[in-house]
Amino acid sequence: MPRPPFACDVHTHTLFSRHAYSTIGECVAAAREASLELIGSTDHYSCMISPTLHVRDYQHFINFAMWPRFWDGVQVMRGVEADIVDLGGHLFGWDMVLQEGITGRAFHHELTLKEYVWRDLDYVIASIHDQTFAEGATIGQTTDMYVGALDDPKVLILGHTGRAGVRFDVDTVLLAAKKRGKLIEINEHSFAPHYGEHTQRACRHIAERCAELGVMISTGTDAHIACDVGRFDHTAAMLREIHFPPELVATRDAKTFLDTLDNALGT
Ligand SMILES: [Zn+2]
Ligand SMILES: [Zn+2]
Repeated sequence: MPRPPFACDVHTHTLFSRHAYSTIGECVAAAREASLELIGSTDHYSCMISPTLHVRDYQHFINFAMWPRFWDGVQVMRGVEADIVDLGGHLFGWDMVLQEGITGRAFHHELTLKEYVWRDLDYVIASIHDQTFAEGATIGQTTDMYVGALDDPKVLILGHTGRAGVRFDVDTVLLAAKKRGKLIEINEHSFAPHYGEHTQRACRHIAERCAELGVMISTGTDAHIACDVGRFDHTAAMLREIHFPPELVATRDAKTFLDTLDNALGT
């Protein structure tokens, strides 16, 4: 197996995303098969999992301590892909106060779903999957929204901004990420034909501006099935075409990604 262009796939989904099809074990095996050093598992943390917002629907996120840090030689990171839900850049569950835990036992102190689910996470990818809240918003508002999401202490990566269907001031958001040592994602799934050429152009423009402004990127396949883990064909080709500086790719090896994570989130 030849060495992959990026040694980390930090955006992948398991069965717990509900519209994805592989277990964490299958994803790790695929990562090893693809010669990756590190995989980040980032299931949807979103109303896609359950509209009822009951804590029991999110309990798969609260037992990450069971996961080995290294599994068959692959480093395994614990993440979520959280939905941005308003123009303030807030993330799903931020305002939902829990009354009880998964057993039904009452909490002694107030805790939001976000606080409860995010306790043991290594990092969060902030993405938009339903942009209706941003309809009619100004560029200033959508730009502030992304900057607001970047200000969340657990958010390391802005996910697939090129295909979210929300226009924003690219340079301002990219520079805000740079200032915070955080990452702009180049998402392999955004190159799927059904997203169209305009999405590919948007992703390419974002990558070009990252190169010109010195902003670091992350690469993620957004795999929803194990056989897509570590397959970065379109991302690699596009970055090659624009002569993207390798030193700005935080996912080029595990050490660079972990150092970036450490510096940005102070974990
Ligand atoms: Zn999904
Ligand atoms: Zn995803």
